[in-house]
Amino acid sequence: MTDLTRADLEARDLADPLRAYRSFFELREGLIYLDGNSLGVLPHGVAERVADVVCREWGCDLITSWNKNDWMGLAPRIGAKLARLIGAAPGEVIAADSTSINIFKLLTAALKLRPSRRVILSEKGNFPTDLYMAQGLIDLLGGTYELRLVEDGADLSGALDQDVAVVMLTQVDYRTGRMLDMAATTQAAHQTGALVLWDLAHSAGAFPVDLNGSDADFAVGCGYKYLNGGPGAAAFLYVAERLQDAINPALSGWLGHEAPFAFDGDYRPAPGIARHLVGTPPVLSFAAFDQALSVFDTVDMGLVREKSKALSDLFIQLVESRCAGHGLTLASPRDAAQRGSQVSFGSDNGYPIMQALIAQDVIGDFRAPNLMRFGFTPLYIGYADIWDAVERLRIILETCAWDTEAFKQRSAVT
Ligand SMILES: *Cc1c(COP(=O)(O)O)cnc(C)c1O
Repeated sequence: MTDLTRADLEARDLADPLRAYRSFFELREGLIYLDGNSLGVLPHGVAERVADVVCREWGCDLITSWNKNDWMGLAPRIGAKLARLIGAAPGEVIAADSTSINIFKLLTAALKLRPSRRVILSEKGNFPTDLYMAQGLIDLLGGTYELRLVEDGADLSGALDQDVAVVMLTQVDYRTGRMLDMAATTQAAHQTGALVLWDLAHSAGAFPVDLNGSDADFAVGCGYKYLNGGPGAAAFLYVAERLQDAINPALSGWLGHEAPFAFDGDYRPAPGIARHLVGTPPVLSFAAFDQALSVFDTVDMGLVREKSKALSDLFIQLVESRCAGHGLTLASPRDAAQRGSQVSFGSDNGYPIMQALIAQDVIGDFRAPNLMRFGFTPLYIGYADIWDAVERLRIILETCAWDTEAFKQRSAVT
């Protein structure tokens, strides 16, 4: 394996069953985009669809579009497309709001379903917004509730007791890519009577997720990462069918009402998943998201997973062999079965090295305190791309091209 050449990888690209998907995306020649875990690439057809919604649906059809162009149907239609990717039934998923807001909605739902329990259980290193939303909710509820945090990756059994109402976990850690066993964790929580809320921000569109097969209760996730829904795309939420009727939403907005256009003074929740809608849908943004998801119509997520593991294993192997001696240390699980679709390397100079890489058209990102993060999106990244990315990294390290003031200036978004 160590005498692997670029030609070997070109041959692997030619034999790749997902090879054709690269042409579905707008991707400039020479750019190696290893940040689809943070902002997915623009699929072809999205710009045209958005232009059509602006010019024809809004510009000409105006308000008749709510019916004529089924603007109200966008949220459940996007939900149904997502359902296949995350192992849910079409009526269990809906596009709405942001991930943060959906966390709030489903945490409140979980607490109301377990009224005698007072604890939200999570990990210390969970994504900050997940923790912040729980903290704000507990503050609102007035002090009898508790956010109980365990060390990352710790066995939850020591912290799961009869007080835990809901376990809130992100399946794939945003820094290291470590992946949790959804089925086993859900089962352990259920055994103590707790519900589970999964954050799929780094799962949906990255590999096959099996919410129903894991007996998951609740889930949320982002539209703009692996799903390519565009900057600030709407998020989604999932509620298992068996729980849906029992939930009276805390954010009881008019679009989650049984009959919004009855303009009734009293809230009555809509049937099923639609009660989790709050206000008027962002039609332009939904149109982009809906169109972007059509890329996945024919995608075999099992093949995506296989290639994702192969790309990330290859990346680790090449970085460790070709960039040895420059202080990069693997911060992700070495076993691909325990990783999502990203790999992180720690380095004291991680920030300027990443800036130097970006200047060489290899885009990844940096996460404090020292992680260089690389996302692998098998629909538009090939094996030879991995070779080229590591070669550019090797040259930057060997020439110390990163060691300039310009690359050390931190921007607001890293
Ligand atoms: C990206 C991400 C979010 C983002 O939430 P927004 O409300 O869309 O800003 C939430 N949780 C996790 C785990 C994430 O990685």
